Amino acid sequence: MKTMTMVGGNIDKKILTKCLHKARKMINFTKFRCKHFSFIVRKNKIVSIGYNQQYKTHPIAAKYGHRFCSIHSEIHAISNYKYDLSECKIINIRLDQWGNMKCSRPCEFCEKLINDNMLKCIYSNEDGFYEFN
Ligand SMILES: [Zn+2]
Repeated sequence: MKTMTMVGGNIDKKILTKCLHKARKMINFTKFRCKHFSFIVRKNKIVSIGYNQQYKTHPIAAKYGHRFCSIHSEIHAISNYKYDLSECKIINIRLDQWGNMKCSRPCEFCEKLINDNMLKCIYSNEDGFYEFN
C-alpha cells in the first residue's frame, strides 16, 4: 500500500486516513470497477458520505448535465447533506477493486457542482492526495 503525501498544506492527515479507511470498508457498496467515494468533512468530522451508484439518477445530476443513468459520489454526498456547506470540504477517494488509491479528480459536471457550492476539494491519486484546482 502506498503512503499518503500531503499536498496543499492545511489538511489534517488524520481525516484523510479516516476517509481512506472508511472507503476501503465500503468497497463493495459500489458495483463499478472503479469505486468512487466522496466525504463531506466539516471541522475535521465526516458529516456525509457518498459513493457512485448505477441505474439511479437524481435531480441534481440532471441539472448538472450528467447524461448517464448513474449517480456520482459527489452528488450523493452533497445531496445527503442538508445543512450549510460553508466551512465544508469534499474529499474524493477512488479505489480499484483491491483497495489501491486511484485518481478521483471530479468530472467536469461535478467540478461545477463543487464550485457552485464553494467547496474545497481534495482528491486521491495513486501517490497521495491533491487539492483540486
Ligand atoms: Zn462526476
